[in-house]
Amino acid sequence: MTVMEQQSFTELKPRVVLGIAAHPDDLDFGASGTLAMFAKQGADVHYLQLTDGGKGSADPSVTTETIIKTRQQEQMAACEAIGGVGVQFLNHPDGELEVTLALKEEIVRVIRTLKPDVVITTDPTVVYNEQTGMINHTDHRAAGQATLDAVYPLARDRLTYPRLLTEGLRPHKVKTVLLTNFSHQNYYVNVTDVMDVKLAAIKAHASQIEDYESFKQLFTDMATRLGKQAGCQYAEGFVRLDMML
Ligand SMILES: [Zn+2]
Repeated sequence: MTVMEQQSFTELKPRVVLGIAAHPDDLDFGASGTLAMFAKQGADVHYLQLTDGGKGSADPSVTTETIIKTRQQEQMAACEAIGGVGVQFLNHPDGELEVTLALKEEIVRVIRTLKPDVVITTDPTVVYNEQTGMINHTDHRAAGQATLDAVYPLARDRLTYPRLLTEGLRPHKVKTVLLTNFSHQNYYVNVTDVMDVKLAAIKAHASQIEDYESFKQLFTDMATRLGKQAGCQYAEGFVRLDMML
């Protein structure tokens, strides 16, 4: 066990949760059980999608316009499945997301509007995994980095983006960030009671799933493995940051 895994945390009881990710399906594959648990506890759960998901099809008969529309509908269905409030789409081109001040301002605008206690996003430190040969998608890294920068210090600092203040969007401190990172975790959420909901949210992304049964097996195995680490049947794991400042 690493030092990080020995860390003890208070139970999270957020009023508002905001999931921020590059593509429709990112949050549901990594965190839909946790989002469903927060919704079940009474939190308002929102999704913010940064790209349009327009590269997500290998089918030659599918156009960019069609796949964008399909994936937005799938994300909205997944949000409904977990009991979420709604999804906002920034519609940056898929595969071209960059960490810019303009993107961070768009994220700060949503953070200051919704005032989340907990933000969930993808861990930008994951570049590759030599065990699985996985290269983390450039958009996932950009989404995570821009979100961390938006949470701290940009959403918090009154004098950042003065036009937002002029619009009445006051500074907001996010209390906790949960980063999805499939190989390293210091915090687990027991999702046993909502495992069916998690699978329903994953299944909603039909355009991204060639064989649902193998997906179901993969995500059930992952939740079981994390559950063993957490001491329950099914769990999701995160790197948790409780903001001190
Ligand atoms: Zn993705």
